[in-house]
Amino acid sequence: MNKDRQNLEKLIEQLLIEIGEDPKREGLLKTPSRVAAAWEFLANGYQRDINSIINDAIFKESYDEMVTVRDIEFFSLCEHHLLPFFGKAHVAYIPDGKIIGLSKIPRIVEMFGRRLQVQERMTKEIAETLNDVLQPKGVAVVLEGRHLCMQMRGVEKKNSYATTSFMVGLFREDARTRKEFLDIISMKN
Ligand code: ZN
Repeated sequence: MNKDRQNLEKLIEQLLIEIGEDPKREGLLKTPSRVAAAWEFLANGYQRDINSIINDAIFKESYDEMVTVRDIEFFSLCEHHLLPFFGKAHVAYIPDGKIIGLSKIPRIVEMFGRRLQVQERMTKEIAETLNDVLQPKGVAVVLEGRHLCMQMRGVEKKNSYATTSFMVGLFREDARTRKEFLDIISMKN
């Protein structure tokens, strides 16, 4: 067992004590090690980098219409409360000579989700990363998230979504392009 994992386990055991639990009772005996493993997984976005994700899956291509991947499930953790927020991401770009393997887009979303986040920043990071690696004519990202820090604490209505969007290039400059994207992501299956 590595040192980081041991430290995490100790912290969780202490957390259990602080909230009034008994970490020695049967149901909780393995909780510190389970929680430590879960946190290593949920925060593994820090260890990933964009180049290993893309892994050369950028191709020269003259296609210059909008490419949209919608309804990408994402999970992340709010950095203010360490509670999950999750929902759907919609990502589009307009190529300028280069396209990216479609399966890479959900993996970029995942890389930024598995970190402590605020939804606003995560939206922007996804858009800026695609913009950097593809230099396309435009990028649009919309995230719709449910935040357990609001829902479980009763701060907001139980079924409310937070929507964030970040657009660059043609999506920002051209109302028709933006509308086309918004129409695509609001289409019913
Ligand atoms: Zn929060």
